[in-house]
Amino acid sequence: MSGKRTFTMIKPDAVQNGHIGAILHDITQAGFKIAAMKYTRLTTERAGEFYAVHKERPFYQELVSYMSSGTIVAAVLEKENAVTSFRDLIGATDPQKADEGTIRKKYATSISANAIHGSDSDENAAIESSFFFSQLEMFA
Ligand code: UDP
Ligand code: MG
Repeated sequence: MSGKRTFTMIKPDAVQNGHIGAILHDITQAGFKIAAMKYTRLTTERAGEFYAVHKERPFYQELVSYMSSGTIVAAVLEKENAVTSFRDLIGATDPQKADEGTIRKKYATSISANAIHGSDSDENAAIESSFFFSQLEMFA
């Protein structure tokens, strides 16, 4: 059984490049409903915690400093098969390898500054959503 919810962040590059509106348009056009949304910023400590699973990876420090470098939009999204469907919409991690029409293909600048995050499993979607939102905010 796949779940109805996923978690996303519009990353600092996409915010700074003025793509919030276009990305939210693509997301809603693809049939996702916004269950919760927040314009916010991560400290380096919080970014480090969010990406703790990548701690041993060579790009970890760069990722943490990049993700705390500016404002982001965090959101909980709802649709059938939300996780898989949203990963299809955003495209491959490396925007050069992302399919035409995907959010990363259209708006990302590089493999690290790749415009958007999407959870990779139902379990992580729940963990990541509660990193930003209370239960009350998600069911408002
Ligand atoms: N990342 C990076 N260099 C890499 C791989 C990943 O800077 O070689 C960054 C990129 O911002 C990516 C994030 O680390 O979105 C998390 O990596 P993951 O492999 O989980 O990719 P995603 O699930 O975001 O596609
Ligand atoms: Mg990932």
